[in-house]
Amino acid sequence: MTLDAYRITDEPYYRPAGEEIAIFEAAWRERLPVMLKGPTGCGKTRFIEHMAWKLKVPLITVACHEDMTASDLVGRYLIDETGTVWHDGPLTLAVRHGAICYLDEVVETRQDTTVVIHPLTDARRILPLEKHNELVRAHPDFQLVISYNPGYQSAIKDLKESTKQRFCAIGFDYPSHEVEAAIVAQEAHVAPEIARQLVAIGTRSRNLEGHGLAEGASTRMLVHTGRLISQGLPMGQAVDTAIVMPVTDEPDVRAALSAAVQACM
Ligand code: ADP
Repeated sequence: MTLDAYRITDEPYYRPAGEEIAIFEAAWRERLPVMLKGPTGCGKTRFIEHMAWKLKVPLITVACHEDMTASDLVGRYLIDETGTVWHDGPLTLAVRHGAICYLDEVVETRQDTTVVIHPLTDARRILPLEKHNELVRAHPDFQLVISYNPGYQSAIKDLKESTKQRFCAIGFDYPSHEVEAAIVAQEAHVAPEIARQLVAIGTRSRNLEGHGLAEGASTRMLVHTGRLISQGLPMGQAVDTAIVMPVTDEPDVRAALSAAVQACM
């Protein structure tokens, strides 16, 4: 069994904001578990794709959700024409054959699901498959990476202290204006001055955070806006479609956000 389908062959564009590449490489050499911490749409997924490509290691990504069970991660018996057969889940595949397993938004899962990763995150590096009566020792190229958005956390929905303490953490945030404009220009194929204008709009919207807006426009949303512009939409319509409408439901907040972005156009 090879994980060729999970190999990234073309370099994913990633513009570093600081020392995150060197930090991650050090953690990878020690196979330490890593937490990528920061708001949604600020480049965490793109970063791990870039690192998997750079380190030439397969990447298995799991989008975590609240109905996810431990079996969804480790595997289960399924019935086929030959009888019942065990199917490794995505985590087990990565542990057995050597890959980075990226659990995106791990906090969404129930705490009893998160516990299955504990024996993988200390010196033991093992995954007990109780239902399959097997103890899988991690392949030398296995590494566990999770993403975590501190802004979403509440007392009932947070990682256990005992889980958090198992990870090194690399902080992500929206990039500086100059870097973000370069990213938007590159990803959306728009002219630098349009990218700078979109970044100004993004910054305005982030200033409204807490005033009725849970989160401002992410880098992802600025890229989407740029892509609509590159398809010929006027800027106002693109901003409305990719930023204002998705992040607001309240008419008052929508009006405030529209007014704030109008000021940048
Ligand atoms: P997250 O995983 O933090 O929610 P993503 O990695 O999916 O966010 O980023 C969303 C989009 O923003 C990416 O698809 C990419 O277009 C762009 N992006 C954000 N940060 C960067 C970066 N540093 N370099 C390149 N692209 C970036």
